[in-house]
Amino acid sequence: MPLDPLCPACGAKTSQERAVDPAFVRCPACGLLFRGQKASPAELEDLNNHRLSQHDHGDDKPNLDFRFVEPEMTLLRQAAGDRLAGWRALDVGTALGDFTAFLDHHGLQAIGLEPSAPRAAIGRAHGLDVRNGRFSREMFDREFAGERFDLISFRECLYYMDDYTETLSLCKQRLTPRGFLYIRVHVAESPHYWRGIPLTTRIGPAATVFFTRSTLIGMLNRNGFSVVTTHPVPLSPGHAVEAWRLRGVVGSLASRLLGPVMPWFPPDRFVVIARPS
Ligand SMILES: [Zn+2]
Repeated sequence: MPLDPLCPACGAKTSQERAVDPAFVRCPACGLLFRGQKASPAELEDLNNHRLSQHDHGDDKPNLDFRFVEPEMTLLRQAAGDRLAGWRALDVGTALGDFTAFLDHHGLQAIGLEPSAPRAAIGRAHGLDVRNGRFSREMFDREFAGERFDLISFRECLYYMDDYTETLSLCKQRLTPRGFLYIRVHVAESPHYWRGIPLTTRIGPAATVFFTRSTLIGMLNRNGFSVVTTHPVPLSPGHAVEAWRLRGVVGSLASRLLGPVMPWFPPDRFVVIARPS
């Protein structure tokens, strides 16, 4: 399969310079890591199965235990000046509906968008408004003709877009004047990848790009967004022990002792809240 020579975020022609992970090419203009080869249909099928198994918590329903997501509401409230009740939210890539349910729970009017029809049906069966489709102009024209949102969230799914200029341009058009973009992504500088685990281990072969903190912020700025706030999410001690293959006594000691020091390491995931500038 031929390599795609154009960066999906800035359109620059690339020299096909390989990044640390050989599946990715580094754009010489904006620094973005992007997949040199598009995933095959078999890989995409594999990804869907993999992600579903990670998200369904064993019983095919939205996870309504919001304890781990709750700090994100603090960030949203800070960005919105505590006026979130009644806001219209579009939660892109909702999977089984976890974050859509979380936004509903906090008084927003949330609509989920999910490309997998079976997963969208699971969210709907649990009382959520989930539409089936990919984030695209056609989808907006079909599902939300003329409508705007106060919040568009891409929670751990921004890496699956085909064209980032188009994605961000659509967001700008469909956000209200008070609205903002909420993005949470895995980042390439995470200690999770320090011992050579492939970057797609957790986000799968359908990922078109892999962000770092700076390439994500750079892309937002170049496409007319200003960052309101950012938030680093440290790698959990459990994930560190697994990724670094620490076993036996070393592993159990590390899982107990790493907690307080992980915030000093580069983040595992990164949250950005941004507004059209
Ligand atoms: Zn680029």
